Amino acid sequence: MTFAEIGLHPAILKALADSGYSEPTPVQKQAIPAAIEGRDLMVSSQTGSGKTAAFMLPALHRFASQERASDPARPASQERRPARGRGNDRQRFQPAQPKMLVLTPTRELALQVTAATDKYGRQLHHVRAVAILGGMPYPKQMELLGRNPEILVATPGRLIDHMSSGKIDFSQLQILVLDEADRMLDMGFIEDIERIVAATPAARQTMLFSATLDGTVGEMAQRMTRNALQIRVDVASTRHDNIEQRMHFVDDLSHKNRLLDHLLRDASVDQALVFTATKRDADTVSDRLNVAGLNAAALHGDMHQGARNRTLTALRRGQLRILVATDVAARGIDVPTITHVFNYDLPKFAEDYVHRIGRTGRAGRNGLAISLVHHAEHFNVRKIERFTKQTIPVAIVAGHEPTRRPAPAKPRPTGKPGWKASDNRANKPPASRREGLPRTPHREAPKSGHAGSGRRAWGDR
Ligand code: AMP
Repeated sequence: MTFAEIGLHPAILKALADSGYSEPTPVQKQAIPAAIEGRDLMVSSQTGSGKTAAFMLPALHRFASQERASDPARPASQERRPARGRGNDRQRFQPAQPKMLVLTPTRELALQVTAATDKYGRQLHHVRAVAILGGMPYPKQMELLGRNPEILVATPGRLIDHMSSGKIDFSQLQILVLDEADRMLDMGFIEDIERIVAATPAARQTMLFSATLDGTVGEMAQRMTRNALQIRVDVASTRHDNIEQRMHFVDDLSHKNRLLDHLLRDASVDQALVFTATKRDADTVSDRLNVAGLNAAALHGDMHQGARNRTLTALRRGQLRILVATDVAARGIDVPTITHVFNYDLPKFAEDYVHRIGRTGRAGRNGLAISLVHHAEHFNVRKIERFTKQTIPVAIVAGHEPTRRPAPAKPRPTGKPGWKASDNRANKPPASRREGLPRTPHREAPKSGHAGSGRRAWGDR
């Protein structure tokens, strides 16, 4: 099936050809025709599967077709509104009336979705997308909203601020997309999402994308969609089969730092993403790499949006070779030239491992994901392996061998879930050995609190 066979608008087909897309990805093949028919969707897919185009192409197709039919739902007076400038400050602010809203968990993902929309909608001159994000100055956002864009891409917190002050009216909304819905729930956005959804027309089309449709996110998806088509993309495409995984055991921090330096100097590393568990570690590791003569920069939620954007632009332009980042900051980064992902610290949750390694091997390329693991963390590796149903081979670099080996096999204590007696690598070191060893630091903490939901302030507002 080609994009043309799907029946997309010629202007979109031209933009896709310009982008070098020859055929739809599996998720696009299933989602786009159903979305064009107006169906609600519940899609489980990972970043890298082409999910952004899966929801944005049918939306742009609809807007392009409406333009041809001269959209009666959008009075001509609202089509093009001059930006508010000094001369008309006293003029009453007319709320923006978007036709489409895309909610994303992070600013980076919102910017990426906006950029993808600009790319796919390049030939549709009447369709504009703007990002409404935390960290962006309010006057700038007021100006963007004043242009009455057709498509808003927003993080929930800042959107709620604008809704509360009457800057946005969702009465004309036709399409709602919840992108990476599982992550938004993880980040504590459930109340904001409920509030935003309640402000949109019941007759809207809703498309929800999530790594999983199980549990809470599945329940929320059922509540927010009507007779949704469920799409689960081929497991093979979420297994990251094009990404080689390895792990190296390290004795201590100094061994870990030496090994990281050594591996980063390999000529095969074009660009690398190094994950740390905390913002402070991201800064420390990046500083240390710079001192060692490597071209590195940190990216985390404590940085101003301008600095984050500059760092990401340098990465995209190939001016930055190594990005040291936390999970939240790096989520959704889509830079095809990243050849290597390093887990300087293992993620706390196995799902995050999958998201992390998916930052390499983009756009049909291969990638290498390397985890630096202290013996005491071997248990966490097992959790990841059980989650991905893949074994991470242990590698050794000559001259950087660990002095200690992982704990030997031990039978599984009876009744303990998730442990296999036959698995000779699945043994947690005894408590006595774990004591005194470096602990895996906690996940990136919220930058600022928010009443009633301690985890939600990550990267937003
Ligand atoms: P996403 O899953 O939306 O983050 O997309 C992952 C990457 O795949 C992005 O770099 C897209 O530009 C690219 N992509 C999306 N759809 C296609 C396609 N049909 N053919 C080739 N590349 C694509």
